[in-house]
Amino acid sequence: MRGVAAVPTYVVMQPTTLCNLDCRYCYLPLRAADRRMPVAVAEAVARAVDPWAERSRFSVVWHGGEPLAAGREHLAALIAPFGPAVEHHVQTNATLIDDDWCAFFTEHRVRVSVSVDGGRQRNAERVTRGGRPAYDRIVRGVAALRRHGLPFSALAVVSRPEPGLATELYDYFLGLGCDVLGVNIEETEGVNLRGNAHDAATVTAFWAELVAAWRRDPRIHLREVEWSLRYASAILDGTADDVLPRRLDPIPTVAYDGSVTLLSPELAGFSDPRYGDFSSGNVLDTPLADILAAAERTSWVGEFLSGVEACRDSCPYFGFCGGGHAANRYFEQGRFDGTETEHCRNSKIRLLEGVLEHARDHQPPAA
Ligand code: SF4
Repeated sequence: MRGVAAVPTYVVMQPTTLCNLDCRYCYLPLRAADRRMPVAVAEAVARAVDPWAERSRFSVVWHGGEPLAAGREHLAALIAPFGPAVEHHVQTNATLIDDDWCAFFTEHRVRVSVSVDGGRQRNAERVTRGGRPAYDRIVRGVAALRRHGLPFSALAVVSRPEPGLATELYDYFLGLGCDVLGVNIEETEGVNLRGNAHDAATVTAFWAELVAAWRRDPRIHLREVEWSLRYASAILDGTADDVLPRRLDPIPTVAYDGSVTLLSPELAGFSDPRYGDFSSGNVLDTPLADILAAAERTSWVGEFLSGVEACRDSCPYFGFCGGGHAANRYFEQGRFDGTETEHCRNSKIRLLEGVLEHARDHQPPAA
């Protein structure tokens, strides 16, 4: 894997910067302001994306702020320019989902992913702007999805890995009814400055316990564990070199105003005296394909690619990880050409070690 691909597999769109919640670990800088994406931005993105979607599977991920805070009418106007081959996804806190939103998801064939961190006590960080717990509103939204028979994914943030938590979470999500689950260990990024260093053995044990819980009842596609198992089986087959894509997915994030940030959505809305506003252009003046073709000319992207090469040269986990995320390097290290971050220790290195620890502990007895 070298360099940045000219064609992404998905694009992230910010219909509004506003979020109706104020989660304590949130990284978004503008979540109290309602800056909405004009339809002209969606039209410009659709011109690039439609031909890609005709050639291979392509998704638009509506991400906020809270995307549903843009309102149904405006979100429908933003979706309208895209052709029928484009798949739409929404990452939502679920608090605004009701019967009308469910009808909207059905009509526009939008796949829903809900952010929820487990049961009531595990959502203490997820609060309204007035500081009140959001949990009841989240589960009301999920109940509406289930009532309408809409399949959904879930994304959980784990702030403090600890023994017993992985089993508790997996059982919770089985009961919630999601079909896909992603688990993120909280990251230090954006306006969230809380530390994310944890004891190595505790994090490894968390992942190993999650694998054990999943193996007892593997009804949910467990994103991180399935990635790890795919990599482990590719190592055994001798096909590990094929696991990573040939080139990095640029993951363009199109902000409300049309500016495009590559590789890490978390960098959108920030600026730095060395790197400027991290943007690689604006779809209102430059076609998205041209912005992507010039990706490596964005100063910080070049620096990040040298960090990826440093990872390749120094890290035994590179074949699994591919060099980590730009935003984690920047927010943890203040630059892009470093290597190990707390994030990659928590969510790549210890993930793989946890999966291997589980496999070692469950080997069949020697004949
Ligand atoms: S695990 Fe960390 S150090 Fe290793 S390749 Fe990934 S980002 Fe780089």
